[in-house]
Amino acid sequence: MTNDNATLVALIGRPNVGKSTLFNRMVKRRDALVDPTPGVTRDRHYARVSWEEHPFILVDTGGIDDEDDTITNHIRHQALLAIEEADVIFFLMDGREGLTPSDIEIVDLLRRTEKKVFFIVNKIDSPEIEDALLAPFWELGVDQLWALSGDHGYGYQTLMEGLLPYLEKTDLQTELPDNTMRIAFLGRPNVGKSSMVNAIIGQERMVVSDIAGTTRDSVDTLVTRDPYTYLLIDTAGIRRKGKTTDKLEKFSVLKALKALGRCDIALVLIDAEEGITEQDTKVIGYTQDQGRALIVLINKWDLIKDDKKRQEQLMQEVEIAIKFIPFAPVLKVSALTGTGIKRLFPEIGKVHRQFHQRFPTAALNRLLADAVARHEPPYYHGRRLKFYYTAQLGTAPPLFAVVASDPKGIHFSYQRYLTNCFREGLGLDKVPVRLLFRERS
Ligand code: GDP
Ligand code: GDP
Repeated sequence: MTNDNATLVALIGRPNVGKSTLFNRMVKRRDALVDPTPGVTRDRHYARVSWEEHPFILVDTGGIDDEDDTITNHIRHQALLAIEEADVIFFLMDGREGLTPSDIEIVDLLRRTEKKVFFIVNKIDSPEIEDALLAPFWELGVDQLWALSGDHGYGYQTLMEGLLPYLEKTDLQTELPDNTMRIAFLGRPNVGKSSMVNAIIGQERMVVSDIAGTTRDSVDTLVTRDPYTYLLIDTAGIRRKGKTTDKLEKFSVLKALKALGRCDIALVLIDAEEGITEQDTKVIGYTQDQGRALIVLINKWDLIKDDKKRQEQLMQEVEIAIKFIPFAPVLKVSALTGTGIKRLFPEIGKVHRQFHQRFPTAALNRLLADAVARHEPPYYHGRRLKFYYTAQLGTAPPLFAVVASDPKGIHFSYQRYLTNCFREGLGLDKVPVRLLFRERS
């Protein structure tokens, strides 16, 4: 896995200027990995991508927030969110439609930020029309306009080369001792992330090192409790006064995304009193999209500790939220009273061990052969599917290649069956397990 502080690039602009077309070009979805985790929210509006080996996170803000009444309000809001949370902003305008009043207004807004903004005129499908289509946009008085055809690709290489310098890792990087467990605390504002980090640090025998680092998006603390070292990533980050409007709350999801790139284990905090919200479900989905280990912490348990009915209802909500991630441990905790915090570290230890465990190939092959013998594979195009061998491709999460006669013909239910055999056979009961089906070459 990467230990990056990936740059967050936000696409903003009116509906139909071509944001999703550009998004798809940048993402170039490769669906080689068969991920048998069903039903996890697949959000099409963000992706972790890389350009010339520089990883970054791409977000189409148009898809994240679409509740505003007028188009101008809608983009103004996107722009504010992007100014607040992104590192680089791609502002798209429509070259065929020409300059619109809302473009002018948004550019005024964007001019005030110190963030890097690319003013992009899209739908310039060929060089001959570039000058004519760009002309009206010079009125904006910006230093540089980027001519682009997100659809055909014209100007794309130039744009990406322009982006490259901003993809350097600019955030602070801390040299971490080997085997540091990197743990991100995720959840909505006020769920208790910072309180939890403080409660942990305040525990006996926890030694806080002063090489801890702080990024724009999160506060990192390095703690040791012999023999282990933990990096605690608090995504509540540095609090900026007066910026916690409901609308901006949505972008705490983006903080989660960035932190997920740097952690092994995501602790998603839920507020026991408020229960599961859509945003919680989304963040839980992201942890699996990105192949992270997940532990759900139901915080503020003290507030409902005498209310049996509420407890039952809440546990049902949680069960639904992690229906497709049933292996994720769920702990009831209180940062305020300290309940459950002692149990947290043994759990983190187990999850971390499983997440990084390696298995000998011979044992894996035996496991595969047994699984196939116990439950005969189905036919595909008149031939029974054959499974030849397997090997571990990586850890964090544990990833295995399974070489088969016809990977495309392996029905989803059989993929899931094999995944479960691996999970059970290898004792990986707390972390995601991935199988990649490949053809024999
Ligand atoms: P979004 O609403 O901003 O995400 O816009 P879309 O990406 O959905 O594009 C809106 C429409 O513009 C679609 O019909 C696209 O095919 C079209 N479009 C997007 N990019 C280009 C482009 O570079 N050139 C042309 N001619 N059409 C484009
Ligand atoms: P963050 O925004 O997620 O970092 O949340 P904070 O750690 O700032 O906590 C928000 C509020 O919830 C504060 O007033 C905390 O005192 C309170 N809080 C945090 N954890 C608990 C808990 O376990 N029980 C109760 N009753 N309150 C808590």
